[in-house]
Amino acid sequence: MAAPTIAIIGGGPCGLTLARLLECKGIEYVVYEREESESENSNRVGGSLDLHPETGQRALQEGGLFDEFKRYARYDDPVFAIADKLGKRLVELGHGRDAPEIDRSALRHILLDAIPKDQIKWGHALASVTAGEDNRPVLRFANGAVLSGFKLVVGADGAWSKVRSRITQVTPQYTGKSFLVSKIAHENPLYETTASKAGAGSSLSIGSGKYIMTQRQGNGSYRVSFGLQVPENLFRNGTGNLQDAETTRRLLLSDFYADWSEEHKDLIRHATDLCAWPLYTLCTEDMGWESVPGMTLAGDAAHLSFTGGDGVNLAMTDSLKLASKIAEHGTKSLDQAVQEYEADMFPRGIARIAESKVMEDVMHSEDPQAFIQLMSS
Ligand SMILES: Cc1cc2nc3c(=O)[nH]c(=O)nc-3n(C[C@H](O)[C@H](O)[C@H](O)COP(=O)(O)OP(=O)(O)OC[C@H]3O[C@@H](n4cnc5c(N)ncnc54)[C@H](O)[C@@H]3O)c2cc1C
Repeated sequence: MAAPTIAIIGGGPCGLTLARLLECKGIEYVVYEREESESENSNRVGGSLDLHPETGQRALQEGGLFDEFKRYARYDDPVFAIADKLGKRLVELGHGRDAPEIDRSALRHILLDAIPKDQIKWGHALASVTAGEDNRPVLRFANGAVLSGFKLVVGADGAWSKVRSRITQVTPQYTGKSFLVSKIAHENPLYETTASKAGAGSSLSIGSGKYIMTQRQGNGSYRVSFGLQVPENLFRNGTGNLQDAETTRRLLLSDFYADWSEEHKDLIRHATDLCAWPLYTLCTEDMGWESVPGMTLAGDAAHLSFTGGDGVNLAMTDSLKLASKIAEHGTKSLDQAVQEYEADMFPRGIARIAESKVMEDVMHSEDPQAFIQLMSS
């Protein structure tokens, strides 16, 4: 059987948005996703995402999915209260902002529902990409499948992209920052107190180079993120062993957040489902590459950065721009489409990495003032 014209590696927000847009334009594609099935969702990164008008929302409009999005979108939720480490509330930001929140799982559901089921191949974890005789990519998957003959392979396979190394030598660097993520569900004794403080939106407390963010999710539960400057593997195999949540909680209370308010410490005492996310970025100096025939990157695979809350918007913008270039040039001139897409994507990606570095610094400040100034400007 002939290979589809375009192989999309990765069924995250970027890959699925691209798939939907190609579907709308009648261009042949297949998505290869490493997860075994639609119901598996190991990528728990970023529980709730805010979609911005000119980027994430625009991609959904182009894909004819905006009405569906509005069924799940939470327009009351972009408000977030800023406090210091003693719990003093300083300001509320985000009123009137057009950045409705949606759970990552709901966004995934909308996109998956908009793609014919046989266009996504589950259980296909790309292991490597090599060059075939015609110099076009050959894809080897962990399940033993070896596929070639595509006119274009799009690496939308996230931070640890396997496609990236065929195009550029840039590799993710640890930012020195990690998230510890936990949950306050309805049955948690702290739920009512948390809900009365964070309300429909989020609250963010910054102090002593750390932060705690509480964010409401679609089902009304709260996701609590602890932002810390720690060695890369501290919470993987060091003192804060997440297998032993009690040890991690004790470490947070006695060390990292020892001088924070009791209100914040309660969030630690009641933290459940703890999970660690070391945060990585690509370096701006290394961004950019000579266009490689038959391959390109999009989303985090192309411009992974510290999360400042718009990685998904940028990823969906890549899909929007790439799909539109492909439609403009047609499948006979895909390399031209890729060159033009990359010429536009690089500056956006570089700017995004630089902006996220600023965000990274202000979120890890001694007090919240720098963050408030940045957001107010
Ligand atoms: C802790 C954390 C919190 C975040 N919070 C936010 C937030 O609030 N708002 C926001 O906008 N952004 C947030 N981000 C950033 C955001 O998650 C990313 O920018 C966004 O998900 C990028 O989308 P993507 O599709 O490019 O990559 P991903 O979401 O990483 O998707 C990649 C897909 O490819 C698949 N895949 C990976 N490797 C392979 C392989 N070898 N073969 C086949 N498939 C593969 C994965 O299973 C996944 O489905 C956060 C990031 C982190 C780490």
